Amino acid sequence: MPSRTGILLLVSGPSGSGKTTLCRRLADEQEAFYSTSCTTRPARAGEVHGHDYFFLTRDEFDAKVAAGDFLEHATVHGNSYGTLKSEVLQHIARGEDVVMDIDVQGAAQVRACTDPQIRIALVDLFVMPPTNEELAARLTGRKTDSPEVIALRLKNAIEEMAHWHEYQYRLLSATREEDYTRFKALLLAERLRVARLVGSNH
Ligand code: 5GP
Repeated sequence: MPSRTGILLLVSGPSGSGKTTLCRRLADEQEAFYSTSCTTRPARAGEVHGHDYFFLTRDEFDAKVAAGDFLEHATVHGNSYGTLKSEVLQHIARGEDVVMDIDVQGAAQVRACTDPQIRIALVDLFVMPPTNEELAARLTGRKTDSPEVIALRLKNAIEEMAHWHEYQYRLLSATREEDYTRFKALLLAERLRVARLVGSNH
């Protein structure tokens, strides 16, 4: 029996906030498992199926929706995205932490989830870029998307940022290192929560 239940660290924030980098680094340092999402969006250059995403056809995605395989799913920037239950539930039950990078709609669905395992595991964080100008600069500097896609992402980013107050925690992005230090500190602190220390009721 694990000494505590796992944490589900849910991270949202607009494209360009740096949230994916934070989540990936936590997983690379083996502090948490990264929940790889499914998407119908085409892979970008360099993205690997099964690592960055499970890239699915529309039919494949819809079949998983019908089978009840998703913990949450949503349409983001015109494509479908979803978190597989299998990427999250077994880890948490084993006392392992999971980090997930999902949008505000998906976050609302996970928050509304009645599964007691999820309710005790969930910690949600919104990562904000320091300013809208910095966000625009980060999105443009990425050079992986067309100007139309960047414009759509900037518009969506501003809408998404209106939801920051729905989260338990907010991280205002500064430098990569500072952001990561604070991000990891959050996970370390959450590991001390008494409610997750199962089997230790003195
Ligand atoms: P991108 O296409 O840039 O990788 O991701 C676009 C947006 O989709 C990001 O805000 C990201 O957090 C969100 N996203 C990625 N995976 C999921 C998921 O499984 N569910 C939901 N709801 N959003 C996701």
